[in-house]
Amino acid sequence: QVKNNFFSNYYYYDEKLRDLSIKKDYFLSNIDNAIKGEWLEVFFQPIIRTASGRVCDEEALVRWNDPEKGMFTPNDFIPVLEDARIIHRLDLYVVDKVLEYLKEKQRMGIELVPVSVNLSRYDFQLCDMVDEICKRVDASGFSRKFINLEITESVTSINPEYIRIQFTRFHEEGFSLWMDDFGSGYSSLNVLKDFEFDLMKFDMRFMRSFKDSNKSRIILTELIQMAKKLGISTITEGVEDEEQFRFVRDIGCEKAQGYYFGKPNPKKNIFNIDKEKIRFQFENPRETPYYD
Ligand code: C2E
Ligand code: MG
Ligand code: MG
Ligand code: MG
Repeated sequence: QVKNNFFSNYYYYDEKLRDLSIKKDYFLSNIDNAIKGEWLEVFFQPIIRTASGRVCDEEALVRWNDPEKGMFTPNDFIPVLEDARIIHRLDLYVVDKVLEYLKEKQRMGIELVPVSVNLSRYDFQLCDMVDEICKRVDASGFSRKFINLEITESVTSINPEYIRIQFTRFHEEGFSLWMDDFGSGYSSLNVLKDFEFDLMKFDMRFMRSFKDSNKSRIILTELIQMAKKLGISTITEGVEDEEQFRFVRDIGCEKAQGYYFGKPNPKKNIFNIDKEKIRFQFENPRETPYYD
């Protein structure tokens, strides 16, 4: 009955909100099923060292693989679990799955590289993250060097003093801390001064704007020089073609990640790769990907 455009738009907007809240309810009422039923599937994406072109790390990226509703990406459900303050359950589950993955790879004689796990800033409010992660890694028998922790700088906005202590504890326990998505939000250089990160990951928007923007190129170049002087290692995210790869390598970025090297893959794809091709070949990256 509503004919007026203004109202029909309004109505549409309302419907959209309703859809969102249905989706939200769905994730919240099924999180136990998802954890028990293994609907949460961890994918792994390679990170390569630019100088050698070899895979030096992998990043664990979770998906919600719903038996009825299909695949959801993290952007659908992570914010919902964060709002409900239960995100630590998912993140610790991912740690368990990563340790299982390392164990399987080891059994199959596939070379191990450290795997980085994404933490949410809320994890630190919800449990003793350092204890929880140490407990799991120690039970697995793997060295702590095999797990890196990726955290966005927003973590430092919650309770800086508390976070500083947690970072120190992580370091004392032998973990590396990586700052994720630098350059995406309100990145502040002060965070680098006030918190001990071992590595900065540059947000993929640097790569998206790199071809048309001389400014992007200058900023990324200088940030990498700065990181070097601070003794912090660097990764550029979202490298999708050879030109981008050459650029980040030539400006001295130590590591790179993106579809050019490999997409996030379920572990079965990684287990099935040709052993001869297990190392990413720098000379001819397109022909011999690590896996894809
Ligand atoms: P992130 O940590 O910055 O992860 C990188 C994202 O970029 C991933 O998206 C990855 O699939 C995507 N990506 C990688 N290379 C390329 C590329 O060359 N081009 C493009 N266009 N995209 C690329 P994904 O898997 O959808 O994850 C999105 C975000 O969700 C992650 O961003 C991370 O912040 C969060 N996330 C993923 N897994 C977890 C988890 O287990 N726990 C928590 N707390 N957050 C997670
Ligand atoms: Mg990440
Ligand atoms: Mg992240
Ligand atoms: Mg990132």
